[in-house]
Amino acid sequence: AGGSVAKDHSPPATRLSDLGGVDACIEKMLELVAMPLCHPEIYLHTGVQPPRGVLLHGPPGCGKTLLAHAIAGELGVPFISVSAPSVVSGMSGESEKTLRDTFEEAKRVAPCLLFIDEIDAITPKRESAQREMERRIVAQFLTCMDDMSWDKTDGKPVIVIGATNRPDSLDAALRRAGRFDHEISMGVPDDEARAQILRVLCSKLRLEGDFDYLALAKVTPGYVGADLTALTGAAGIIAVKRIFQQISDGTLVLSEDVQQQLASADGDVSM
Ligand code: ATP
Repeated sequence: AGGSVAKDHSPPATRLSDLGGVDACIEKMLELVAMPLCHPEIYLHTGVQPPRGVLLHGPPGCGKTLLAHAIAGELGVPFISVSAPSVVSGMSGESEKTLRDTFEEAKRVAPCLLFIDEIDAITPKRESAQREMERRIVAQFLTCMDDMSWDKTDGKPVIVIGATNRPDSLDAALRRAGRFDHEISMGVPDDEARAQILRVLCSKLRLEGDFDYLALAKVTPGYVGADLTALTGAAGIIAVKRIFQQISDGTLVLSEDVQQQLASADGDVSM
């Protein structure tokens, strides 16, 4: 019955070691979610309610999604992800159903993490002609959150992680007790944190000698993880181009093993 194909909610392959410069956030996140997800019996035994919602906030590209993914991957729990703007853009009634279905799915695969990106989209905007519909979506969301209390999930925790760049525009009702009553702020990384992010991003790259990560971090103020990813990606392309140029100039001869690797690669590799 039902007929719907079960989605694959296997734990992500991302690990905490894929993140740099966010040790304090990782620690806080583990404190909030690892204990209840891995040892629900302790909460059941003591009668203490575990956290239900954690709000992650910080500028775009600072690693909110990556952190949520990595926690689920590290704990080996299913990760369900939904983007609030895509839920809200549905027709009247449809959005509420999507929310109900998403939370039901989470309950089915619990213990798990349910990630809601751009959660600030779930709020009635003032002056909007759609205000009534938006109010209904907020009400549905609150009901769904309240339905994740322990007595309603057979003691299997569903922890909801909401991510936002605009914590101030979050609907006040979402921040009440039993909803998003825990928050973690992920700011713009400082020099040291940027150096750590660069170390993680370059861990699989073949770099020359003692690469000075801190020196590069110092000249990239204001860069977040996503910017540093773009930077290392661009640098990689330039490095590869330079090698091709040196080969065609005849100033660089590839070693035997690299030539063999190229020869056995798929496609036509000609230089
Ligand atoms: P948005 O608010 O735009 O959704 P976000 O805060 O969720 O952004 P992510 O999507 O997690 O940001 O980050 C984008 C990419 O930037 C990641 O996939 C990763 O490659 C890189 N990145 C961001 N932060 C870090 C970090 N702390 N360590 C390593 N890589 C990072």
